[in-house]
Amino acid sequence: MLEIRDLVKSYGSVRALKGLSLQVEDGSLFGLMGQNGAGKTTLLRIAAGLLAPDRGQISADGLDLLQEPAEARFLIGFVPDTFGAYENLTVLQYLEFFASAYRYRGRNARVRCEELLDRVGMADLSGRETAALSRGMQQRLSIARALIHDPKYLLLDEPTSGLDPGSRFSVRELLGELCESGKTIVLSSHVLSELSELCTDIGILEDGRVKVTGEVSEILAKIEHSNPLKISVVSGEETAMGIFRRNPYVRSVMRSGKTFSLEFEGGGEEEAALLRDLIEAEIPVNGFMREPGSLESFFLKMTSDNRERVILDNDDEESDL
Ligand code: ATP
Repeated sequence: MLEIRDLVKSYGSVRALKGLSLQVEDGSLFGLMGQNGAGKTTLLRIAAGLLAPDRGQISADGLDLLQEPAEARFLIGFVPDTFGAYENLTVLQYLEFFASAYRYRGRNARVRCEELLDRVGMADLSGRETAALSRGMQQRLSIARALIHDPKYLLLDEPTSGLDPGSRFSVRELLGELCESGKTIVLSSHVLSELSELCTDIGILEDGRVKVTGEVSEILAKIEHSNPLKISVVSGEETAMGIFRRNPYVRSVMRSGKTFSLEFEGGGEEEAALLRDLIEAEIPVNGFMREPGSLESFFLKMTSDNRERVILDNDDEESDL
């Protein structure tokens, strides 16, 4: 398990991490979400041993990464968000250069690098100059580089950023395969829908702290229940309002003529009971559905309370119950 406790980091007067705690279970593919400046890069660079925190603890597999940096190096692989080509080096030379940092020499180094190039689908590009590679291929090479020492944990900062859709897909596929082969992967991304498809778990960072963390499936279920319930009636709006007012799961109602948007805290059974109440009161209901949710909408809800703004932007009547 990768365990981060109470991490604090400032750059001068900028407090980038403000007591960030997070747990990443072994075998998971963990997605870090957060707006620009939330602290994702800072967190990943600290975990990779490239940056020292001001305070806090971080351990992987029980090893204290801050106290034992030399051992930690062998547990963690890091893919930064920039490639940094080495002019005039071929793909194989580039990898062999990094392999030497992990004590691979001569034939061992060559075999290990060829193995890795094969793994990331670049076996036929070993003689190509790194500077001439496409962004997608550079990213694959960076991943191969981070895997040289066969680390248990692989950290990637925005691995699909700047890639065309085809390369993005193949990098995602590669990460999925690596996770299945036993690596624990943590990646940051701005493309939320991508995280929901790829990751098993997600952590939402805001302003240097973890706001929400959990399994993707749990978070998607929460999204489902955090979206408004849209109800429209043919007539009987006032009676419907009375029913909403009395229902304990309704937190607020926005009304636009014969259409209502309810903040409703109940699940499926409570929704069915509300619909029954309306029908028993002989209100002709011609629309009743949860607005479809997305990770984006959940993210916005979690990172800023935009409910009030939505209400103010709308001409509709709002009633807090
Ligand atoms: P982005 O998605 O834009 O990369 P991020 O979530 O990765 O953002 P960080 O890069 O970790 O966030 O930055 C967190 C905060 O620390 C931001 O306010 C940023 O401006 C600040 N920061 C990061 N690096 C430095 C630095 N070297 N010097 C000063 N401030 C920095």
